[in-house]
Amino acid sequence: MNGPDADFIIIGSGPAGVSAAFPLIAAGRRVLMLDGGDDAGSQEESRSVRVLGSNLESLRTDDGSSPKLQTPAARGILEPFRRQSGITGDGFIPIGSLARGGLSNIWGAQISYLDAEDIANWPIDIASLQRSYEHVAKRIGISRNADVAIDADGEPVLPLGATAAHVLHRHQAVKPADGSFRLFPAVNAILSAARPGRAACDLRDDCLYGCPTGAIYNSRRDLLLLRKSPHFRLLDNMQAISLTHSSGWTVGTADGSSFSAPRIILAAGVLGTAALLADLLPFGEQGLRLLNSPTLAVPLLCPPRLLRSPTPTHSLAQLGLSLRYGSGASDYVTGAIYEVGTLPAQSFINRMPLGRKAGRAAFELIGSSLLVGTIYYPGDQSHSYIRRDETAGKRLTVRGGFADGFGLRDETLKKMLRREWKRLGLIQLPGASLAEPGIDAHFAGTLPMGAAGPFGTSSDGELNLHPGLYVVDGSILPDLSSKYVTMTIMANADRIAHRLAETEANSAL
Ligand SMILES: Cc1cc2nc3c(=O)[nH]c(=O)nc-3n(C[C@H](O)[C@H](O)[C@H](O)COP(=O)(O)OP(=O)(O)OC[C@H]3O[C@@H](n4cnc5c(N)ncnc54)[C@H](O)[C@@H]3O)c2cc1C
Repeated sequence: MNGPDADFIIIGSGPAGVSAAFPLIAAGRRVLMLDGGDDAGSQEESRSVRVLGSNLESLRTDDGSSPKLQTPAARGILEPFRRQSGITGDGFIPIGSLARGGLSNIWGAQISYLDAEDIANWPIDIASLQRSYEHVAKRIGISRNADVAIDADGEPVLPLGATAAHVLHRHQAVKPADGSFRLFPAVNAILSAARPGRAACDLRDDCLYGCPTGAIYNSRRDLLLLRKSPHFRLLDNMQAISLTHSSGWTVGTADGSSFSAPRIILAAGVLGTAALLADLLPFGEQGLRLLNSPTLAVPLLCPPRLLRSPTPTHSLAQLGLSLRYGSGASDYVTGAIYEVGTLPAQSFINRMPLGRKAGRAAFELIGSSLLVGTIYYPGDQSHSYIRRDETAGKRLTVRGGFADGFGLRDETLKKMLRREWKRLGLIQLPGASLAEPGIDAHFAGTLPMGAAGPFGTSSDGELNLHPGLYVVDGSILPDLSSKYVTMTIMANADRIAHRLAETEANSAL
């Protein structure tokens, strides 16, 4: 009989998968990584083809989602997942990827750190998470921000565009007395100083559509480093479709191959991991609870910046915001304010209640003074479940919705936000909208750490009832705050992999 293919098989090469791989190979473990996608989308294309398509198809398709998700580059990452995962949405847009690097190919690179209060219900201590935040920050490069305590290895902050800088200045001048509304330069996983193989952000490229120089962190680039290790092997176009256990675990793939290892680490993203576990979990009638952050988008006008000629700005150097709008633990939102000057004008013109020509003229006048706020509620304000569709074999459907009482919360928040915009001298334009659940892929909580029963995992992500099967992506975060989630997914994967490397070393003695 053949021996195992590796000590660990990691499924998925997104931010979670690579963060688990580094500590394991550093400890001398043999890691085989399978990814359902390949390097598609990374080819050098002209910016206009990447953003608009060779046939300008991106301008013609306007499905109401963010312009970024409508680009051909984004579709190349999202559509194979839609076709092959068998997951559909009902009041929910199931966003997942099948591409090397996962959704980090198209993420916004905004970073948040959780504190002891945020993880009060987790079965781990804050010190271990903080250590892992530091490991990850050191590896990926975080532009420093004065508001963040963990910044020893941070880099200089990215300069804000002129309109965002104006708003921050105004905020500092009219700071609310109770401190419940905060604006600050966002923390980004974007290099402001070059590193080997990655250039610093040049503040010029239209980075919302992908960074050609590698300044924005993308886990695909980490694979270049990992592949230098003799302990690491990556197989592309290797979509896992089954998991079976006898003496160890065997992964069956879509092309008929199979691979075995004593331990499997699932890092396929929350939806990808749920699809892979569909045969092992008793979904039942209710299904699997999924936390996702309801997302509000608000267009804003900054009158003092009207009629200014557009200043070159880095579209990801946003302002971060946070607002506590009530006394409950869930009455807290965070988000970002983007300048829209570098987005394709057409996306905005399409949404203006004017004809094409008048819309374009209006955009030219106001483009440099336009901002968009994206605001996230905590995940407990969603009410979404992943169900098995018994009529369609293994297929899963995510039914999306909002928590009871969410409408009232939403009204209270909007009222407070209007007050804050006024204090900042901003005018809220018509068109504020709550996105369809799922759209920004802030997912968590399907298989929480510390929970009992078949849907729970240990504090090290080992699935209850399935020894040797570990989960390291957002599935195991017990709750989802309103803060950006990816840095925490990476830190938690790093923490678990360190623990696994230690346990393995001890058992080998
Ligand atoms: C438009 C957009 C903007 C975002 N902006 C931000 C932001 O600013 N800040 C933030 O914190 N987060 C942001 N996110 C969320 C962020 O992208 C995700 O949290 C993060 O990518 C999750 O990492 P992951 O490794 O768990 O999963 P993924 O990135 O989804 O990676 C999963 C990997 O698994 C592979 N895979 C899936 N299924 C299989 C299978 N069956 N077999 C083999 N391989 C498989 C995929 O190919 C992929 O490589 C954004 C997301 C989107 C869509």
